Amino acid sequence: MKKDIIFNLLKNSPKSLTAEEIYNDMSQTTDVNLSTVYRTLNNLVAKGEITKNVRQDKIAYFEIGDQHKHYMICDNCHTAFPTENCEIDKLARKLKRETGFNITSHTLEFHGICPECINKGTNK
Ligand SMILES: [Zn+2]
Ligand SMILES: [Zn+2]
Repeated sequence: MKKDIIFNLLKNSPKSLTAEEIYNDMSQTTDVNLSTVYRTLNNLVAKGEITKNVRQDKIAYFEIGDQHKHYMICDNCHTAFPTENCEIDKLARKLKRETGFNITSHTLEFHGICPECINKGTNK
């Protein structure tokens, strides 16, 4: 089943994947189109089996699990490192209470140089 292929791709990937990356990988072995990939991904998100995170590049990244995450992006090697906990929800709840604004989502991204690049001394 396409759902299982997508789930396994995400499970075996050390990083989160975009729908297009998943599609490119799948289309080599499976007869599939991009809209099916999107639909399947959204179904998995709705079931809470995977998480969708829209980053500031406006691209949605998918990964296993139901944890909402933020990323530290290395400006040198462009690797995205997930952060474990989101503290922003607390702030969002406070803002909601204070302003009455119904906040439904947020984005936050950290940029810098990852430890590996610092050690290699390849950071610009
Ligand atoms: Zn790096
Ligand atoms: Zn958050």
